Amino acid sequence: MIFIVSGPSGSGKTTLVDNALKAGLPKKLARPLSFTSRPPRHNEQDGADYLFISEEEFRGKIKKGELLEWTKFLDGLYGTPRKEIDDLIHMGRDIILCRDIKGASSFKRQYPAATVTIFIVPPSIGELENRITKRSHKTTRPEVLKRLKEARRELKFSGRYDHVIENANIDLATRQLLDIIKSYQSRGKKG
Ligand code: 5GP
Repeated sequence: MIFIVSGPSGSGKTTLVDNALKAGLPKKLARPLSFTSRPPRHNEQDGADYLFISEEEFRGKIKKGELLEWTKFLDGLYGTPRKEIDDLIHMGRDIILCRDIKGASSFKRQYPAATVTIFIVPPSIGELENRITKRSHKTTRPEVLKRLKEARRELKFSGRYDHVIENANIDLATRQLLDIIKSYQSRGKKG
């Protein structure tokens, strides 16, 4: 199974995915790293959060067909390494990934039977603004406003997802995410 988690910046999707990776699930999840051309945030590390590369290197990977899918999000390019996903699938591993709307639909198209899409919504736009502003003390106001505008656009797509989780309380939202994953893992296939 490939669990794709989407949601606007500040929806808490990264924390939820981190919690799912640490949880005792019937089948342990794998999360391959993405390439990105955006600069690391102050608390991010190359090889732990993303594989940070230059835009030129990123364009080279697109040309060589090394990316299973990629997207431009605000000013950065983001993409999934094809080889790592193929290797994990051959090993029979279950995968969890955070992806934007375009990435989620690309996985659904390429792996329709294996992909489960989950959208994380914040309790309100006001709360989302608080979270984006609080977390990004090194981010400029125009960047916060750009992410909020993008968030409003992304929220319109939640209806296209297999599951929607409202993240008002992280423990509750984590439990809901784990319940969804467990239900697919115990079935062994989507249905
Ligand atoms: P951020 O800059 O907040 O880390 O990520 C911006 C957006 O890009 C998020 O929605 C994140 O889930 C998405 N993203 C991260 N890696 C990839 C990727 O490899 N492909 C796609 N399509 N989206 C990605």
